[in-house]
Amino acid sequence: MDILQFEKQFLNLPSPVEEIHDALFEEKQIRVFIKRDDLIHPIISGNKWRKLREYIQFAQLNEVKQIISFGGAYSNHLYALAFVTKLLGMRSIGIVRGDELNTNSNSYLKQMKAWDMHLHFISRSEYQIKPIPEAIHQANSLIIAEGGFGLKAIEGIQELSKEIESYKSFEYMICPIGTGATYLGLCQSLQEVKIIGILTLNNQAEIEGNSQELGIPIQAISDQYVFGKYAKQANVLDTFCEQFHQKHQIKIEPIYTGRMFYGLYDLISKDYFKPGSQILALHTGGIKD
Ligand SMILES: *Cc1c(COP(=O)(O)O)cnc(C)c1O
Repeated sequence: MDILQFEKQFLNLPSPVEEIHDALFEEKQIRVFIKRDDLIHPIISGNKWRKLREYIQFAQLNEVKQIISFGGAYSNHLYALAFVTKLLGMRSIGIVRGDELNTNSNSYLKQMKAWDMHLHFISRSEYQIKPIPEAIHQANSLIIAEGGFGLKAIEGIQELSKEIESYKSFEYMICPIGTGATYLGLCQSLQEVKIIGILTLNNQAEIEGNSQELGIPIQAISDQYVFGKYAKQANVLDTFCEQFHQKHQIKIEPIYTGRMFYGLYDLISKDYFKPGSQILALHTGGIKD
């Protein structure tokens, strides 16, 4: 099945845009819209399809025998890859961080195995080098970097930008940053919009390095909502996500979209945006239940 057919049959594209309302937005005379990429598919959710699309197409057109990628035990990227390759009848291999783990360590790994992804567990120190184990090395493998980062991932975001442009023009956009592929893709293809990236890890230097190397200027990045790993702060995010869900009937999770919306509310309350501004927040998905 080719990519266009696959999208038509399995995916909800283009994803909808919805406005959300809040007394705070009214007070500050701001309108907030959400690009619901979380509705693209329950498993190949959010930015994961956008980032995989060009890789899958390349694999189909170039007789790639297997796709190899990397991730942690809860990687949304590997999870989506396992499912897509299952549907398309392609061979996939996941190299997972942590040699103390096995295919029964959590329900996601179990599920990925059930979708026929071959899982290899390597130690955390080995993982830093990301070796391809001898046993799985073979000609015509396509290797996708950790978290799906890469030129093809960035290129895949153009499709998202086209959907946004054909909908309407926004002064601002906001999205969470993991590897930064989504953020850099947006910066590359939406030059009229001010795009705010909310870091979820302390990897600003890496994002800036990639930006320079690829010649994609960064617009605005905030490291104010990383929170760190302290339980007390994690509670703040969990509570925020629950309240957000109750208020807007839209599920978010604390790692990516929770931090982004928390940051958005904070920036609005601190008058970061001029009155009259319209902001588009990208819901990058990540809800696995
Ligand atoms: C993977 C992921 C991200 C990070 O995207 P990058 O392109 O790696 O920055 C953001 N949100 C969700 C829900 C994700 O699963």
